[in-house]
Amino acid sequence: MDCSHRDQLGMSPKIAPADAASRRAAKPTIVYPAGTMPGPDLAALEQARRTMVKTHELTVPPRDARTFRVARGQFFRIVSIEGPQVGDLNLWNAEDLSERFFSGKTRALHGTHVGIGDRLWSNMPYLRPMATISHDTLGWYGFDEDGAGIHDVIGTRCDPYTNLLLNGTAYDFCCHSNLSRALAAELEMEPRAIEHHIHDVLNVFMCTGFTKDTHQYFMKASPVRPGDFIEFLAEIDLLGALSACPGGDCSATHSSDAAACQALKIEIFEPDRATLKHWSWPSPSAYHRRHGGHAQS
Ligand SMILES: [Zn+2]
Repeated sequence: MDCSHRDQLGMSPKIAPADAASRRAAKPTIVYPAGTMPGPDLAALEQARRTMVKTHELTVPPRDARTFRVARGQFFRIVSIEGPQVGDLNLWNAEDLSERFFSGKTRALHGTHVGIGDRLWSNMPYLRPMATISHDTLGWYGFDEDGAGIHDVIGTRCDPYTNLLLNGTAYDFCCHSNLSRALAAELEMEPRAIEHHIHDVLNVFMCTGFTKDTHQYFMKASPVRPGDFIEFLAEIDLLGALSACPGGDCSATHSSDAAACQALKIEIFEPDRATLKHWSWPSPSAYHRRHGGHAQS
């Protein structure tokens, strides 16, 4: 129920208590303060980057998705090649699809938008870095006057279910469907049999924020240009999938064929492994998983 609807029904709790001001004056506390967990060794990362050689590349066609595999210790880039275009990224443990990117905890740990040095974390009970952002040519953008930033972990992915709910039409080339088709092809299964593996994404190159008045999720034209890229170190063996969103630069619309759409490129690099010999590769969380219940004997 929105506020205006509540007003019409006379349900709006607009009369504030006498101590409203003091309640509102409570000071914010960062939930997960930066610096409380060890960050990546950015100097070692930079050294490894300087030695890396491209070993593979593939193109993601517009309104479609492709899967790719990256071994632990390799780097991968998502590159803008034709014009402004947003990409929706999913990541899984290559050996176990139940371990996958956890956008919500990544947001809680790093913020609404991610950049160099931030990690893409996996879901529980694993909760470890799957990838570390090693370079981002859009790092200059920061947050603009609308409060928007690049590469968000606040959106989910465009999908045919929400589109049907809001527009009453069936559209088959939303990112959820593109990612489903790509993973289905990888696993040689039908999309409907594997779509539960598709999860909330990293919105690569997307420019987003929350409106200042109503705090609603908004998008604006991506500032990405051909040649721009975001780059990651794979912290575990990864299966990835990237969708070239039907929203194109996401300046106006999505979930339709209306927007101009461009291809994206994925590049995989192999560094001199000696440069990463002291890198601490992440293990799944060491939490005992008893959750306060009785331990199994
Ligand atoms: Zn999309």
